[in-house]
Amino acid sequence: MNIIDLKGITAEGKECHVWACGVCQMAKRSRDEAEQCCLPAKCKCGKELTRYQTFCDACRKLEYQRQDQERYDKAKKVKYADYTGPGFFVDGDECYDHKCPVRDILEDKP
Ligand SMILES: [Zn+2]
Ligand SMILES: [Zn+2]
Repeated sequence: MNIIDLKGITAEGKECHVWACGVCQMAKRSRDEAEQCCLPAKCKCGKELTRYQTFCDACRKLEYQRQDQERYDKAKKVKYADYTGPGFFVDGDECYDHKCPVRDILEDKP
């Protein structure tokens, strides 16, 4: 990997190293840090990310699914017969309208 390895001698005569990133030339505390400095960020699954991503596409999809599930789990389930629409509320502030997929999983749907 592209790092700069600077060797020096301390006042006590000991050999020491300073590492810097070979791309941006920032000095780092360790060789590992210098190596990682300008590498692309990695997703938790190990996939390389583009500059503005925090998750790769696959993990983002999973995360959305997880959030949807969580939202559904938290949602107040309304019996279809009791459903007076046009929307119902989740957590008191989010309104799901007729297009919302949550409507399809209402209990007791005829
Ligand atoms: Zn760098
Ligand atoms: Zn990922």
